Amino acid sequence: PRPIELLNSALLETQADRAKIAVKNAVVHWYKCDLRTKDNHALHLASEKAKSKGVPLICMYIVSPQDFEAHLTAPVRVDFILRTLEVLKADLAKLDIPLYVETVEKRKKIPQRVLELLEEWGANHLYTNVEYEVDELRREAKLVRGCLEKGIAMDAVADTCVVSPGELSSGSGKQYAVYSPWYRAWMAHCSGKPSLLDLFDAPQKNPSNARHQFLNLFASSIPETPENKRITSEEKKRFGSMWPAGEDAAHERLKKFTKDRIGGYQARRNFPAEIGTSSLSCHFACGSLSARTAVHTARENNSTKKLDGGDPGIQTWISEIAWRDFYKHVLANWPYVCMNKPFKPEYTNITWEYNQEHFRAWCEGKTGYPIVDAAMRQLNHAGWMHNRCRMIVGSFLAKHLLLDWRMGERYFMEHLIDGDFASNNGGWGFSASTGVDPQPYFRIFNPLLQSEKFDIDGDYIRKWVPELEGIKGKAIHDPYDRGNAKEAEKAGYPKRIVDHKASRERCLTRYKEGLGRE
Ligand code: FAD
Repeated sequence: PRPIELLNSALLETQADRAKIAVKNAVVHWYKCDLRTKDNHALHLASEKAKSKGVPLICMYIVSPQDFEAHLTAPVRVDFILRTLEVLKADLAKLDIPLYVETVEKRKKIPQRVLELLEEWGANHLYTNVEYEVDELRREAKLVRGCLEKGIAMDAVADTCVVSPGELSSGSGKQYAVYSPWYRAWMAHCSGKPSLLDLFDAPQKNPSNARHQFLNLFASSIPETPENKRITSEEKKRFGSMWPAGEDAAHERLKKFTKDRIGGYQARRNFPAEIGTSSLSCHFACGSLSARTAVHTARENNSTKKLDGGDPGIQTWISEIAWRDFYKHVLANWPYVCMNKPFKPEYTNITWEYNQEHFRAWCEGKTGYPIVDAAMRQLNHAGWMHNRCRMIVGSFLAKHLLLDWRMGERYFMEHLIDGDFASNNGGWGFSASTGVDPQPYFRIFNPLLQSEKFDIDGDYIRKWVPELEGIKGKAIHDPYDRGNAKEAEKAGYPKRIVDHKASRERCLTRYKEGLGRE
């Protein structure tokens, strides 16, 4: 059975016994990728339960450096998570709710530590939101039963997606592997069940004696960054001002986006020199904003007060958030994508290159293709890259350089502030044509045309590739072929590491060979 089925059956089989357990001293919410107080399903249920039984609510978050390793969490993302925890701790403290944060060395010890803490606090009701990665689903499936053996009721509920995996299937009962019909089903499901977009209330205040009762939990501090994920003080300052953390910051950003930019989203979202998108992905990834709140807000701002129809910018933005749901459904339905396998098995036979020099040039933004280099330097500097550019550099790595797409997938996870396994894996599968509903393998982005179309005046390139600052006009897209070779060389801009036409031919041949096609 798939891990999601293991969890669902554990929850179903234990349901009656869990319901019989009477609440003892406290109810506990276990935070993972849902670091917010508002519109948090499990937190809301935990608070309701605590309130109805007149006991306090305790929140906990367990960090394991091994977890960061296993998920390839980027240092910039670790920093963002820890800063978010600081804000969350303060937000919860205003409600007299303690957030206890602890580090455990070995990730497999986390379930045991969760049980120990519950015992220590005399609590026997645990709430958490489900995550769809394989290890997490298996862990939770085991823990639901493990808890019951100790007389603890554990509830794991759906929260991270607007429509949860398992809710949508085609007429023949199969899971969708193509986005468009899936999106129609997603839209119909949301429209038929408007309560799906009702937001969960923030938790209620704890009884007033909770402060004294849990003094040591309130006093606990946010752990230090694990050694191998540390960033310099300059980076800390830079990321701190670029990416303010916490749910108020997320709501502020959402408010500004819906007021100023969502209307123009459809028209402007593909131009990386502009601030045309929401830049909310880091908040969705660590849960300081829920996808439900975002879609709810978009609907409220739509002239139709519905998800469909009305403002094209709003419709397009909703459909982009739905991509996030789509890739989480893919992960839950086809968990082997978590195991370094392409979604389409026939793509296993493509022979990739492992040219380290090419890979290094790509990572450092020194390929000689200005749009690719600008994008990679944006990633390295800001921990974020514009979506259009993610597709361009993804296609360039897999098709122009014929490097194994998993090298790019990994590099992204190690450097993105919004690194999310499902979306990243989906994006790489799309760009390399090995994934679910990808662009066809013979569609090979021409980086020069992409550059001319989406960075028309070259402002994005000039911002991120200072060597080319002085190159005027269209030559910015292709300095070596447009009579500016001397200037580009003098400024130290690298020559192209591969030729576009030859790479294109090599790629088509290699993909055809791998797929066994004429
Ligand atoms: P907006 O345009 O404002 O969109 C709003 C939200 O919708 C985003 O924050 C995101 O949650 C979701 N979204 C938008 N586009 C996509 C998409 N194509 N797939 C999934 N969700 C989407 N997104 C991540 O959150 N984490 C990743 O690790 C990640 N890796 C990617 C790798 C590749 C190769 C590609 C092509 C795309 C990847 N994306 C990833 C998707 C997308 O690039 C980012 O979500 C987007 O650029 C974030 O910027 P934004 O918040 O301004 O997005």
